[in-house]
Amino acid sequence: MRTCAANTPNLNTTRTGVCGRSTPPAPNKVDAVTTTTSNRYALAIDIGGTKVEAALVDPNGVVLATSRFRAPTGRASSSEQLAESVRTVVRQSTAALPEGAELLGVGIGSAGPISVSRGEVSPLNLPAWRDYGVRALVEAELPGTSVALRGDGNCIALAEHWIGAAQGVKYFMGMVVSTGVGGGLILDNQLIDGPTGNGGHFGHVEVGGETVVCGCGGTGCVEAVASGPKTVEWARAQGWTGSTGEELAADYAAGNDIAISAVRRSARAVGHGIASATALVDLELVAIGGGFSHVAADYIDLVAEAITDRAPFPFITKVRVVASGLSSDGPLIGAAALVHHPERLSTSALSSS
Ligand SMILES: [Zn+2]
Repeated sequence: MRTCAANTPNLNTTRTGVCGRSTPPAPNKVDAVTTTTSNRYALAIDIGGTKVEAALVDPNGVVLATSRFRAPTGRASSSEQLAESVRTVVRQSTAALPEGAELLGVGIGSAGPISVSRGEVSPLNLPAWRDYGVRALVEAELPGTSVALRGDGNCIALAEHWIGAAQGVKYFMGMVVSTGVGGGLILDNQLIDGPTGNGGHFGHVEVGGETVVCGCGGTGCVEAVASGPKTVEWARAQGWTGSTGEELAADYAAGNDIAISAVRRSARAVGHGIASATALVDLELVAIGGGFSHVAADYIDLVAEAITDRAPFPFITKVRVVASGLSSDGPLIGAAALVHHPERLSTSALSSS
């Protein structure tokens, strides 16, 4: 769903706002700290299209900053290069385990698709890995340690539900609008990951009236319409001369007509997708993060307006849309939730992890 690097200064490829301007802190924002009172850690691993990151996370969802390491991935990487990056960060992070502390288990959040039952990943933006056994790779590094795997969209939803914007909300969808569009569903406090682990793949829900081709091979997917790169591409096709998400953000703020149309088109696609999802499962709340969700100060408001336009039923328009309550630690915290909160995972998926 994404190929984010948290420190890459490109709006299209980051999951937190870097529009060349500051954005207000999200509510319940979580910041990494260097110390913790707990000594029971999860090793969290986040595998994305540009990097793999690992860190130790305590039972309160606090990332142990001294244990946080990253290594490159990338579209051009070989399978062995990707594997070595994962091994490297696993070794570095586990070496940072404080003396006397316990490693409870490993949680892996990966770009998808994935197979939970087989422990395999096929990240769209990492072509060298197709049905790659990443769980076995990590198990080989840490014999005897349990390793759980889920998609990164599901991990984001778990993190929001645990310590982010969706604490205490029973019917919730977490979303990222970035290089791709991803999501995860929590219904009645349970993650709906499904038998393959790919449940909540919101980016590949269809938007009515759109025929643009998606990276998945389908047409009209939310991701194909609303992601940062696709929105830039659409704007350029309308005659806009910029080439990055940052430029689009600046032109939107300056009142450029094409930039405004492009941003509204993205928000409308996301809003219509949320309306459809809410019609299906009666969501109470949606939290949206990801770099491109910061393309406009009123992006979240535009999404909410699109829901109202799309669906007049009160049970649909009641869904609240808010900005993510997570910092850039969100994917790691979500991966750690697989270890610290297994009760939120479905039984079918638990039995195979
Ligand atoms: Zn698609």
